[in-house]
Amino acid sequence: MADLSTSNTSPNRWLFTRQIGTSRENRPILLHETAPFKAASGGTLLIGGVHGDERATIHLLLSFQDRLLRENRVDLATLPIGIIPLANPDGFVKKSRVNAAGVDLNRNFDAGWSPKGEEPPGPEPWSEPETRALRDFIEYQRPHKIIALHWALGEVDPDGAQSLPLARAMWDALSPSDRAPYRLREGGNPCPGSLGQWCGKALHYPDGTAPAIVTLELPFDPAIPRPDPLPANHLEHLERHWQNDAQAYLAATQRAVHKMLAAACRFNASKG
Ligand SMILES: [Zn+2]
Repeated sequence: MADLSTSNTSPNRWLFTRQIGTSRENRPILLHETAPFKAASGGTLLIGGVHGDERATIHLLLSFQDRLLRENRVDLATLPIGIIPLANPDGFVKKSRVNAAGVDLNRNFDAGWSPKGEEPPGPEPWSEPETRALRDFIEYQRPHKIIALHWALGEVDPDGAQSLPLARAMWDALSPSDRAPYRLREGGNPCPGSLGQWCGKALHYPDGTAPAIVTLELPFDPAIPRPDPLPANHLEHLERHWQNDAQAYLAATQRAVHKMLAAACRFNASKG
């Protein structure tokens, strides 16, 4: 626990909020940060709600943020932690995966982009204001580590060789029972046009480095070990679970997710 005598006791003194972009329907895309990101100062960026209907990703980031403030976890925040809980605010309002233009934002990045994706990728890469906002923030502020939350493949999925040590650090933070609903994916098919693909394979900062990026896919059912392959109806399964008792789902997933996020914030990417 933090020693309050040596750390800020007012949450406002170490949580800053700013708008990094605007959605198609003029909703703000907000970033909360423990200290202002400065270009090349390192830090960790946590992103949720890229798919507007994946509501657990938003709740889990907000609960992690609350916990940082409540427990005054300045030990985790020696480098900036930036949290974008809701990258697709229009999709959230419409309870839809896609944005207001019907585009899957996680297929709209300029990395392996294809016009013929299974999910609607948009007319061209970066056609959507939400993806441009993420691009501009990341290119300008150059976080060392990026974690994007999604549901519901139940996996810790790094993109690019530079991301594997970060994924392993998150995995190592879990007990065997925490791990059961997940798998660590150490390679596999990259998702075309995704944030992970762009950060992991296409993006290079001016100093030649690239961020470590991990997609954290929440489990479709936290009560059972992750089957491989997943059942075809895993998304419907989680959606039903969520409709019936969202609080139960959050309670069952929060511990492991918070552990992984804390491990990611603490991880020193430059030491690898
Ligand atoms: Zn998703």
